[in-house]
This record gives sequence, structure tokens and C-alpha cells, in this order.
Amino acid sequence: MNSSKSIAINIAIPLFISFMFALMVFNEAKIPKIIFNLVPYLFYAISALILWVSWHFNRNRFIFVITPLLLMPLGFEYLDAKRATNLFLYVSMLFPLHFLIFLSLKERGLFSIWGIIKIIFFVLEIVVVLYFVFYPNDELIALLKMKIFASSFYPLEDISVVIGIFVLIAMTFLVVFNRYMLYNSSFLVITLTFYAGLYFIKTPYANKLSLLAIGVIIFILLIRESYRLAFYDELTSLPGRRALVEDMAKLGMKYSLAMIDIDHFKKFNDTYGHDTGDEVLKMVASKLANVSGGGKAYRYGGEEFVLLFPSRDADESYKHTDILRETIAKSPFSVRNKSSQKTIYINISSGVVQRSSQDKDPFAVMKRADNALYKAKKAGRNQVVKA
Ligand code: GH3
Ligand code: MG
Ligand code: MG
Repeated sequence: MNSSKSIAINIAIPLFISFMFALMVFNEAKIPKIIFNLVPYLFYAISALILWVSWHFNRNRFIFVITPLLLMPLGFEYLDAKRATNLFLYVSMLFPLHFLIFLSLKERGLFSIWGIIKIIFFVLEIVVVLYFVFYPNDELIALLKMKIFASSFYPLEDISVVIGIFVLIAMTFLVVFNRYMLYNSSFLVITLTFYAGLYFIKTPYANKLSLLAIGVIIFILLIRESYRLAFYDELTSLPGRRALVEDMAKLGMKYSLAMIDIDHFKKFNDTYGHDTGDEVLKMVASKLANVSGGGKAYRYGGEEFVLLFPSRDADESYKHTDILRETIAKSPFSVRNKSSQKTIYINISSGVVQRSSQDKDPFAVMKRADNALYKAKKAGRNQVVKA
């Protein structure tokens, strides 16, 4: 389960964007017309950017999300009233499911087998919708318009509301339990925004602004994703070495640092395999991430981690690092070796130093922490040595 703090942060960003656009819709009278006239063009521009970035970064799900959003308003504009009404009914049912499907499918190359299956599925969706727009089946439409609720959500049909609620619940579940929070939270807000745009379709500019809001949410998501790729370690989700170097450059005169290394990790890998080794790294990282005393944990590389303690002296950092060492040493880790299940314990060693006036730069501090770590290893491991 994800922490409520990170859920809040991840939801707040897209929600804020969506809210700003909603404010525009409901304050339409106070805003110059020219701004609203630009909205469709801004949406085309941001869609073009998204398509280009998704293509280059192999984030193809956004191609499948943006393309139908580009097609939908064309249908509303150029179809006659009856057909446009039917299109409205179909998209209000299918889009949320479409969002959920493409959120859940793994990212793979567009021209791999899976990519081609996705393309075929996508083209089929469009063909089926177009078929029923041009050759409407009265029985089917009567079925889709059946009443489920006592109250009306006009212009949305009850069935679209049911599907929407189902999709929103599924996405909420993903936000709370799945690790790809950046995506899940954005898609949750995208679905809500899409529904708002349909529900207020009669309100001037509401639908067009909802599409632009979705474009902006996706674009911001792509920027945040690039930041995450650059600064965060994929395996442990801890900030990586690049983030450490940047954060150290921001530090004041007083700080301390702990260099951490897992004991006998090579032997562990050799005995239980690399995959189990990865699980150990994740376990250790999750403990280090909860460091107390204002510290922050980084994956320095391999099985080495760094704790950075801004404005703390060596005694304080020693205390907080040793708490972690003990926590990890007491945490049982179960491994499967062939057919038997076994419980083992992982140890870490650490060297702690405080910056001194002799240290030319942060790397000098790290070098001394590394020497202290070496002493901890020499002294028998599973201990913290203060330089
Ligand atoms: P010591 O107690 O002296 O630190 O012994 P050690 O075996 O831990 O030391 P060493 O630095 O020689 O071994 C580090 C090992 O960590 C080597 C490599 O197989 C393993 N390792 C590094 N990165 C990863 C990773 O991402 N996943 C896994 N599973 N293993 C890794
Ligand atoms: Mg090592
Ligand atoms: Mg080691």
C-alpha cells in the first residue's frame, strides 16, 4: 500500500490542473473570448508534443489516449445531430474503459507483437464505433439508454455512469496499491476530467477545455516521468547517485553522511540467485527510506547506499544510522531455496562522517565515509563506525 503522503502529492498535481481549467469554464464571462478561441489550437499543439515525446520515449500508451481524443471533437463537429448524439453515447461508455485498458497494459514497442495487437485493437474500436454511428441499431440504443438510477445524469446515460464508477473505483484501487502512482493518479484525474467535459457539454467551451486539461495533465506527467527516470533508481525507487550529487551541492557548511554497504552480498547472490538479491536490495532500501533525524536515503550504486543528514553532526547521524542497522539486522527475510523455505537475516555496515573545514568538496566527505565503512568491515561487519 502506498503512503498517504505520496498519494496526496501525486493526486494533487493533476487535480490542480483540472481545477484551474474548471475555474475558466465557470468564469467564462470574465475572460476575453480570444483565449477560448485559442483552446482547440492549444490542444492540437500539446497533442502534437505528446505524440512526439511518447514516440521517442517509448511511452506509447499516450498515443492511444491522445489520438481518440483528437478524433472525438471532429465527430461532434462534423456529424449531424442524431449521429453526434449516438457518438456521444458510445464515447461516454467506451473512453473510460479505453483509459483503464491502456493504463493497465504494459509499455512495449509499438512495432512489437504486443504493439501491433494494441494497434489492431485500437483500429477495431474506431471501426466499431463508426459502424454504429452510421448504422445505428435501435434495439441496441434502447438497451444502452435503459434507466438504472432514479435520478438523471443527462446528458450522460445511466450505463455510462455505471461504467464510469466502475473504472474510477478500479483506478482508485491502483492509486492506493500499485507502485506506478504517477500514472495511476494522473489517469484517475483524466477520467474524471473527461466525464466532467461530457457532463457539461452544453456549457460553452467546457468540453474543449476538458480536452486541453487532459493534454496538460499528460504533458506534465511526461515531464515528471523524465525527472523520475533521471534521478530515481528503478529497482528500489530511492533517489540515485545523480540526485545525491545535486543534493550535496545544495548543502550548507554543516552536514553529515553515512555510507552503507550490505555485508557478504556477493555470497548471498551466489547462494540464492540474483533475483532474490534484488528483493533484498528492495527490502533494505525500504527500511533506509524511513530514516529518522531528517536524513534522506539514496542508492549510491550496486548494494551501496548513502544517508545524507543536513545540519546534523556525526553523533546524531551515528545514532539514526545505527537504529537502521539494528532494524535491518532484526528483520527476517524469507528465501526459497529449491523446495524449502528458509528465514535469513541481512546485515549492513556503515561509515559515518561529518563535513569538516578540511573537506574541499562533498566527494572528500564521501571518501572519508568510505574509509570509515572499510573499518567497519574490517572490524567484523554489522556495525557503524564513526570517523
Ligand atoms: P562485503 O561484506 O565486504 O561488502 O562483501 P560483498 O560480497 O557484499 O562485497 P562486494 O562489493 O564484493 O559485492 C557486491 C555484490 O553486489 C556484487 C554484485 O553481485 C552484487 N550486486 C551489485 N548490484 C546488484 C544488483 O543490482 N542486484 C543484485 N542482485 N546484486 C547486485
Ligand atoms: Mg560493495
Ligand atoms: Mg557488500
